Amino acid sequence: MTETTTALGRSSVAELAERAAALDAANPLGHCRERFLLPEGKTYLDGNSLGALPAAVPDAMRDAVHRQWGEGLIGSWFGEQSRWWELPHRLGDKVGALIGAAPGQTVVGDSTSVQIFNTLVAAARLREGRGVLLTDAGHFPTDAYLADSVGDLLGLRVERVKPQELADAIARHAEDVAVVAFPAVDFATGERWDIPGLTKAAHDVGAVVVWDLCHAAGAFPVELDAWDVDFAVGCTYKYLSGGPGAPAFVYASSRHHGQMRQPLTGWTGHADPFAMRGSYTPADGIGRARIGTPTILSMLALEAALGAFDGVDLDTLRAQSLSLTGFFIECCDALLARHGFGLITPREPERRGGQVTLRHPDAATLVPAAAARGVVGDKREPDLLRYGFNALYNTHADALRAARTLAELIEA
Ligand SMILES: *Cc1c(COP(=O)(O)O)cnc(C)c1O
Repeated sequence: MTETTTALGRSSVAELAERAAALDAANPLGHCRERFLLPEGKTYLDGNSLGALPAAVPDAMRDAVHRQWGEGLIGSWFGEQSRWWELPHRLGDKVGALIGAAPGQTVVGDSTSVQIFNTLVAAARLREGRGVLLTDAGHFPTDAYLADSVGDLLGLRVERVKPQELADAIARHAEDVAVVAFPAVDFATGERWDIPGLTKAAHDVGAVVVWDLCHAAGAFPVELDAWDVDFAVGCTYKYLSGGPGAPAFVYASSRHHGQMRQPLTGWTGHADPFAMRGSYTPADGIGRARIGTPTILSMLALEAALGAFDGVDLDTLRAQSLSLTGFFIECCDALLARHGFGLITPREPERRGGQVTLRHPDAATLVPAAAARGVVGDKREPDLLRYGFNALYNTHADALRAARTLAELIEA
């Protein structure tokens, strides 16, 4: 019995290894892996928490520190070779190109949490008089806490519903819904939600949507303009690989620029910041979403990091990402299912992002044990194992190695 199982296991591993090699050899984005500095011997599947280091970043950081800061000093804010002041817009347009936003609607700065707060309030203020903020029952904690806080501040009732129940909630509250705030992908389960469909449902009752794209930007194509999205926020340190603490981005459709009023009225969002006036007049356009002095060093790291997407077609990226997650699911079926691992992420390709979540009662010990063997993922309470695939640098061999390592740990 044991022998048969082992023999079966072996032959299927050999077959999977062959398939992985063939798929990796045919990868149209194979050249992109060199755009990252990946530690020797490690299979890194935690880019959905912190993207790997893009190869262009160390030199960009040296330039930022020695030339731009050290030599250029204060002159670098407006100097031709650095133009720090414009960086939030320059980066915003680069990120915008990856999320289907025409230039002038996306700006980079501050943290995701800050931008969620600022944007939720701005969105709710566009629908004054309405009483309900609908948000995801399984939303990332910071989004949930901030929705409650905004509800408190503005006197909105916050109702937490699953995306599957959103249509019912919208029908129930109808014209009383001010804001609908959901993530593009569930951070725990890896399930991907229907941005255009849910946006349309919200618009049908005149509500404004705020999408959290933390697990979407850089992971698959998003078409904010074409999908008629009102607002979106997201971080740049996951699939965009901007580095630890890299600043967030915020998108506001140009149709809202005239009316939108954020609560955090910092001086860099002023129409004429250097006039140093005593009262706030918001800048025209997306500039009003700026708050305070930009975190230039982090932004320069992000600018270099985004170069990893140069020439990358996002549909190709998505196809490759689905090939990776699909193959990983196959490896898990073949090697892990009989050891009590459950698949949490939907099998249907269109219903997942770039991450696959497994469930196992020993998740808390398996994840660090796999990491000690070079396979880095992460765990989420109580029993989830998350493995994130970045199509720019992960391979099918990585997927197989991860499943094999977990199988070996369980068998040991
Ligand atoms: C990663 C993530 C965040 C992180 O917020 P920070 O302010 O950058 O810590 C927020 N929301 C979602 C959905 C995330 O996945």
